Amino acid sequence: MKKIIVKPGAKLDDYKAYGTLYNLVNQFLEDVAEFPDKLRGKTIWMINSTAIGGGVAEMLPSQMRIIRTLGINIEWLVIEARDEAFFNLTKRIHNAIHGSGKPNFTEDDREVYERVNARNLEKALEYIEDGDLVVIHDPQPMPLGGMIRKHKKVKLVWRCHIGLETENEVTRAVWDFLSPYFADYDRFVYSLASYVPEILKDKTAIIPPAIDPLSHKNRMLWMSKCLGILQQSGIIREQLPVLYPNYKHKVRRVMPDGSFDTVNHDSELDIIFHPTVLQISRWDRLKGFKELMEAFILMKRDNEKKTDKSSLVYRRIRHCRLTLGGPDPAFVSDDPEGMEVLNELIEQYKALSVDLQRAIALLLLPLDNPKENALIVNALQRSATIVVQNSIQEGFGLTATEAMWKQRPVLVSGAAGLRAQVQHDINGRINPDPTNIAQLAKCLEEMLSNPKERDKWGFNGQVRVINNFTLFSQIKAWLSHLSSLE
Ligand code: UDP
Repeated sequence: MKKIIVKPGAKLDDYKAYGTLYNLVNQFLEDVAEFPDKLRGKTIWMINSTAIGGGVAEMLPSQMRIIRTLGINIEWLVIEARDEAFFNLTKRIHNAIHGSGKPNFTEDDREVYERVNARNLEKALEYIEDGDLVVIHDPQPMPLGGMIRKHKKVKLVWRCHIGLETENEVTRAVWDFLSPYFADYDRFVYSLASYVPEILKDKTAIIPPAIDPLSHKNRMLWMSKCLGILQQSGIIREQLPVLYPNYKHKVRRVMPDGSFDTVNHDSELDIIFHPTVLQISRWDRLKGFKELMEAFILMKRDNEKKTDKSSLVYRRIRHCRLTLGGPDPAFVSDDPEGMEVLNELIEQYKALSVDLQRAIALLLLPLDNPKENALIVNALQRSATIVVQNSIQEGFGLTATEAMWKQRPVLVSGAAGLRAQVQHDINGRINPDPTNIAQLAKCLEEMLSNPKERDKWGFNGQVRVINNFTLFSQIKAWLSHLSSLE
């Protein structure tokens, strides 16, 4: 069990200095005024399984900074798990909550699950005091809640970031497997009402995830800074007179032969001066990378069949690029499936023609350096023509919200979480079936061919994020929920 130190970051006055956020912050301060008193003397403990990568690690630092500014104690603990059997099991649980995989969870699985969690108990008990509030995120540390409760008088919340709207035998099996732990928890928090299993309905609050508009991932970057970051990290090769310090890591990319290198084999400033379609996610089958690559290839191939090679649409598609970014596996230890999924994409990429290989970049991002990773993601999103989240299943896709905040037009699948974020044709496009390659290719082409619509979706996207998905709405919901626990 490790306590994570959160570095200083934006203060409330920094947010207020932004015209579009000024009213939001003032309203927030009014709305949360009662909570510091209600939570006095208690510490809120956030417990999850990783300090880097994924939505939870992304959101916690900014939330914690603001909550602390209000005078409320909040800390973050990460379980130590280094155990392959445990990671394999928790990945299976994760997939099963999304409805995929096999419905077989055994008592041996339970033994691994509880053994690894029990190893974290002693340390947890050194930190946590009677009266505190403990929030356990996602399935990995779920059994730990009950273990803590045997020793300390705490209130326990389980925060589930994933889910499936419909039941199937796999979801039933996984909820059965997890149900012995439910009784330990006072309350539950989900991202969407439709994800909540029937037996938890009465004890559950809905809090959608949110972004921090001023974090390194989301703060404003001017074009010159974007160029500097992309060049310093090795994503674009041209030598520009940039003023930024050398990045510790160059982003590695997949070479045509499937090896990893930091050399950009395309000498042009490709993703800046060409229309670019971008998806950044963990290498997870449920993120729909493979289908997106296939759709992009289909769009390109169909484009070459067009007879009018002088049309603007033909030229846009001809020059279009696809960038797929995800964690460099060198820095990720808790995701056994990630490398497998990346390898599948590499095989798909290796088999392509030279032209298509030049049009597609598979980037491995330096997740071990959160600031560099965040700035690279920020610069990539800001340089993208369209940001895609083609998830087969998605609890709530932070990447879509990040792109909308940056006024980038988004193309998302009809996965439940994404449908709650994006309004079709108002602030982006929803392509219902992420596995329908022809339909996805058509959506991409339509979006690439409609700059005016893209501008509108992008603009409306930012408004939607300000109104619904900033950390201020999220913190208010959390504090109200936690202070109601008696
Ligand atoms: N992310 C990142 N680098 C990567 C891949 C993902 O910084 O190589 C970030 C991404 O920008 C987002 C988060 O990880 O902030 C992923 O959250 P999301 O809700 O989209 O998916 P999850 O990983 O939680 O399923």
